[in-house]
Amino acid sequence: MHAFKYHRPSSVNDAAALAKGEAKLLAGGQTLVQTMKLRLASPSDIIDLGTIKDLAGIKSDGKTVTIGAMTRHADVAHSADVKKAIPALAALAGMIGDRQVRAMGTCGGSIANNDPAADYPAAAMALNATITTNKGKYEAEKFFKGMFTTALGAGEIITSISFQVPKRAAYTKFKNPASRFAIVGVFVADFGGSVRVAVTGAGPSVFRQADMEKALSAKFAPESVANIKVKQDGLNSDMHASAEYRAHLVTVMAKRAVEAALK
Ligand SMILES: Cc1cc2nc3c(=O)[nH]c(=O)nc-3n(C[C@H](O)[C@H](O)[C@H](O)COP(=O)(O)OP(=O)(O)OC[C@H]3O[C@@H](n4cnc5c(N)ncnc54)[C@H](O)[C@@H]3O)c2cc1C
Repeated sequence: MHAFKYHRPSSVNDAAALAKGEAKLLAGGQTLVQTMKLRLASPSDIIDLGTIKDLAGIKSDGKTVTIGAMTRHADVAHSADVKKAIPALAALAGMIGDRQVRAMGTCGGSIANNDPAADYPAAAMALNATITTNKGKYEAEKFFKGMFTTALGAGEIITSISFQVPKRAAYTKFKNPASRFAIVGVFVADFGGSVRVAVTGAGPSVFRQADMEKALSAKFAPESVANIKVKQDGLNSDMHASAEYRAHLVTVMAKRAVEAALK
């Protein structure tokens, strides 16, 4: 790891003023610290968002659940408000990594990082989330741009993520047994006749599955998706799973998610 200057700002404005040049924001450090150790990143300055109290917390008003960027995965998984409003979102947070990763990793860090196999981007897309930053708001649809790429500008800080409350929803993940990242994860959300299906792990970035959304909007039942064949073109192929296998898994996970949402 290279030397860097460490900062502990007490407000988002102070953090934004420091976030210049080669500086990096630090949330839970579950990705950033590993990349620094491997010298894949060598920031001049580390700006620790952990000292900004306003950035952590959960609010639920019946229509949306708003999660502060610095809220840890474990806090989302155990939140009574999240469990009541969007149980699938609490369950998703509880499936991330292991106990240590959930104790440190944050919702904002995961959304900002946009790892192709991360879980939160699937929830954000399926639950039509709004990502709020110190500079403005983004619909999830326009936020995730590609592998590890988002609409965030240089030094822009996510402050919270608001997830819309669906009528029913579920997330199922075929996980990598070592890291628990998604080989394929599918989040299905029914907003009362209008269904959104978001897929993570399968492609370079999270995406919606239009054929499944159409079929499930017509009839919210496992058989509506069971025979939908997903094209393998553009899907990831690596040592863990071929594109063909991932395409097959999207259908299997979607069917299981619908079954789970109906329970
Ligand atoms: C062993 C292991 C297993 C894991 N398994 C899973 C899994 O199963 N599913 C899953 O989804 N994830 C998994 N993760 C990732 C983990 O969930 C973290 O959430 C993720 O690494 C990023 O969150 P963080 O808070 O640690 O961010 P950091 O590592 O601190 O930051 C990541 C990036 O986001 C930027 N950033 C952080 N916060 C903000 C902000 N508020 N605004 C703008 N930019 C910001 C940072 O500058 C950095 O570039 C795993 C990680 C590990 C180490």
